[in-house]
Amino acid sequence: MGESASVSDWDVVVVGGGGTGLAAAAEAASLGCRVVVLEKNSMHNVVPNSKSFAYHLARHCRRRGVEIRTRTRAKALVIEHDRVVAVECDTKAGKHRFAAKRAVVLASGDYSADRELKAHFARPEVVNVEAVNQNQGPGVRGISANLISRSIP
Ligand SMILES: Cc1cc2nc3c(=O)[nH]c(=O)nc-3n(C[C@H](O)[C@H](O)[C@H](O)COP(=O)(O)OP(=O)(O)OC[C@H]3O[C@@H](n4cnc5c(N)ncnc54)[C@H](O)[C@@H]3O)c2cc1C
Repeated sequence: MGESASVSDWDVVVVGGGGTGLAAAAEAASLGCRVVVLEKNSMHNVVPNSKSFAYHLARHCRRRGVEIRTRTRAKALVIEHDRVVAVECDTKAGKHRFAAKRAVVLASGDYSADRELKAHFARPEVVNVEAVNQNQGPGVRGISANLISRSIP
């Protein structure tokens, strides 16, 4: 990071407060991990009329001790010795690095609208299937650009 960032330490850092991220966070917390969920919006809002889904999953997580940081946008994964060790974020208070001792879970949405990623990571048959969710590919590419560039020449 150009400017200096504050740092916090966690066992598991989850990027994305949707169903996938919250379920992973609850599971990790139930195994005794100290978990933080990073969500760029104030609340999960991908599926229309689904506030109850997000509310109950988030409550389930908080009861297990998961910390949910909203308005926290993951910008990049930090890789050291071929391992993802932290997530760099923009927060209300500035740049922050969430260091993960055990795992980083990337749950920032699918890449079903990104033909190149589908061709590389999924099966050829799905490349031309139209995506329901049109705007998730760029999120995956943005955060994990340094990982993807290692996989796609
Ligand atoms: C209009 C519509 C209707 C749908 N209807 C249904 C349905 O009826 N039934 C069904 O099973 N599925 C439905 N889906 C599909 C369903 O929404 C997805 O399968 C599901 O949301 C995937 O969950 P997820 O947690 O993997 O990703 P998402 O729900 O996409 O969650 C990803 C989260 O990550 C956050 N995020 C993204 N980038 C960053 C970042 N850089 N930093 C921090 N946070 C970030 C996003 O804000 C979001 O909250 C529908 C989808 C759409 C678009």
